[in-house]
Amino acid sequence: MNIQNYINGEFVNPINGEYIDNYNPSKGEIYGQTPNSSKEDVESAYQAAKTAFPSWSNTTLEERSKILLKIADLILEKLEVLATAESKDNGKPISLAKQVDIPRAASNFQFFANAITQFSSEAHESVGLNAVNFTLRQPIGVVGCISPWNLPLYLFTWKIAPAIAAGNCVVAKPSEITPMTAYLLGEICNEAGLPKGVLNIVHGLGTSTGQAIVAHPNIKAISFTGGTKTGAHIASVAAPMFKKLSLELGGKNPNIIFADCDYEKMLATTVRSSFANQGQICLCGSRIFVEEKIYEQFKIDFIKKVAELKVGNPSAKDTNMGALVSAAHLAKVKSYIDGAKLEGGKIVFGGNKVTVENCENGYYLQPTIIEVFDNKCSLNQEEIFGPVVTIISFKTDEEALQLANDVPYGLSATLWTNNLNRTMQFSKQLQTGIVWVNTWMLRDLRTPFGGVKNSGVGREGGFEALRFFTEPKNICIYSPS
Ligand code: NDP
Repeated sequence: MNIQNYINGEFVNPINGEYIDNYNPSKGEIYGQTPNSSKEDVESAYQAAKTAFPSWSNTTLEERSKILLKIADLILEKLEVLATAESKDNGKPISLAKQVDIPRAASNFQFFANAITQFSSEAHESVGLNAVNFTLRQPIGVVGCISPWNLPLYLFTWKIAPAIAAGNCVVAKPSEITPMTAYLLGEICNEAGLPKGVLNIVHGLGTSTGQAIVAHPNIKAISFTGGTKTGAHIASVAAPMFKKLSLELGGKNPNIIFADCDYEKMLATTVRSSFANQGQICLCGSRIFVEEKIYEQFKIDFIKKVAELKVGNPSAKDTNMGALVSAAHLAKVKSYIDGAKLEGGKIVFGGNKVTVENCENGYYLQPTIIEVFDNKCSLNQEEIFGPVVTIISFKTDEEALQLANDVPYGLSATLWTNNLNRTMQFSKQLQTGIVWVNTWMLRDLRTPFGGVKNSGVGREGGFEALRFFTEPKNICIYSPS
């Protein structure tokens, strides 16, 4: 199936007529074509957004909210079609797309449809000076949203929903590796009555189409989710132009397990936090630190549970793990596994490619557990972003904390303990943007989401996202009494 750009409410071919192959990772086959858009397409999307902005930014909150809710309803109505498309494009199990990705895309619109009606700004009375200050929060204008391939519609809408709720018009680019559900979203927006030009979706490569969005002089804010290296490059282009930037980048998240935790709950959740979506979630706990006194038992039980995971065709109901997203990504992940021994690591489970019946050319890999003995190895310092976790033991709280923080990333951490004092100490001292205690990836969309260190700058979620997508202006009114 060939897809098109969505500009000014219409589906159009790229101006240069160039396309990129779109792969189905479960079969390793080309199944469609994606526009390889150029600067000219981005300019056309910008012009549509600019034209739509005066009217959209003056549309009442009630009306904006109504349209966003309609988009959410239509996403849920088309859940089956969207989940099938997401699974085919990305390789993820269809069950996951149905339970998580697509419902969450609808929730993103529902949440910001409601949040915008509750968003308010501060007023400060300057007592004794006969003045009142208040803050006007105005939409920025045309903003850019760029998202990755791992949770395609989920992360794409996580940016678009707050941007348009706040009154902006958007030029957006999904990953060229997984463009299908973003394409389908265009049809949904038209059906929901979103005015022409409020959302424009331009497909293409990061280095050309994405770069053109970031470098566009009049796209004044960029919300980006992706790799740390790409984030650094985007910052270097956007910063001299004084653009607002929100960067949600890579992670190398610790999963810290103490002997006093609820063992069975921890075990089941740790299987999920290690291998959900083939380990391709920025929040996956890829470094597992286990208190020494339960380490050997944990190793036995964890291997046993992981061995039960079924790697298979994403469209099969009983598949727990589907295909990795691309041949290049599979090769990257496999190279870390193959290099493990050289770094003193011991593969205690998995490590091999999997051949799936009727999908022999798909990009499948076993869930892989590697025992490491040195936190400084690249397996524990670099983001692998696949179904690979390391396990390592620790003796004391101090050692666990030191190991957890000894990494360039700082997105999230998971802590398993029933000790309240330890919970408070770790929550304060872990160098991450998010700490989960006795759970994982339990999301409340009102909370700030983002990382520290090389995991990014800024926060999304809740009012933080609406603050990002608006420009605060201080109004000071003097009135002699
Ligand atoms: P990339 O950084 O490769 O790409 C992300 C997006 O940026 C894609 O749409 C890509 O386009 C685009 N892009 C690439 N180069 C440029 C450029 N020079 N200018 C503008 N846009 C560009 O990340 P991946 O897609 O490989 O995603 C995986 C990464 O995303 C992991 O590091 C993961 O941790 C991170 N991530 C972070 C999350 C967070 O919330 N912190 C959540 C989810 C993922 P294209 O692919 O089409 O070339």
